[in-house]
Amino acid sequence: MNADHPAAASPLRPLPTRVLVVEDHAPLREQITSLLLAAGHRVDEASDGRIALELALDSPPDVMVLDLGLPGLSGLELCRRLRAQAAQPVPVLMLTARDSLPDKLAGFDAGADDYLVKPFAGDELLARVQALARRAGAGQDYRLHIGPLAIDRRSREAWREGQRLALPPTALSILLLLAEAWPRALTRSELIRRLWDDDPPESDPLRTHLYQLRQQLDKPFATPMLHTVHGVGLRLQVAADKGAPHPRTLP
Ligand code: CA
Repeated sequence: MNADHPAAASPLRPLPTRVLVVEDHAPLREQITSLLLAAGHRVDEASDGRIALELALDSPPDVMVLDLGLPGLSGLELCRRLRAQAAQPVPVLMLTARDSLPDKLAGFDAGADDYLVKPFAGDELLARVQALARRAGAGQDYRLHIGPLAIDRRSREAWREGQRLALPPTALSILLLLAEAWPRALTRSELIRRLWDDDPPESDPLRTHLYQLRQQLDKPFATPMLHTVHGVGLRLQVAADKGAPHPRTLP
């Protein structure tokens, strides 16, 4: 995958998640950074707790991935000070090799929003970062960002990997409904009801619109996002929730 961020080309930044990765173990930090970049996020890095705190206060990231054991300032202390001093809440995903209950409780007590015990799978890290970013963005509910997909509800525009999708209104509405339901699937009847209440315009009303959606959302790209779940309905799938990008092993 291309690590360069595709945002620059689109008229509206496709809402990449800005992640600050704070980890003093260089190989792990680099591994996390390349995973996030490959998923289309923007990444800043720090290896020292004190510097990380300055960075985060200066320019709050959307999500911070924070190691517990750090030079300069421990992850717990950093988390506490961030909670006390930051102008806006910064969701924190804490990383630690220590999986004992007291450490987890201390992490949450210090203000961590989620917790991941090393060693962890890359796709799990991605899924959690994205979940935190979505939760944090709940106040800005016109913005939606799922994996490589970005939707602006106000302008009714959508992008995948920075490329604007030329979607007719109904296809865009279907994409939005699926994105709001993600990672759940929606049944066809639920989609029809949400789009046309009890009065769909024809006998197989989704057909044309799903075709138009696939042409824009999936055809130009290597992997499809729109999946038919047999016996259930339709759902969006991103690399992070099918376990595809396997975590690289540490050197
Ligand atoms: Ca460490």
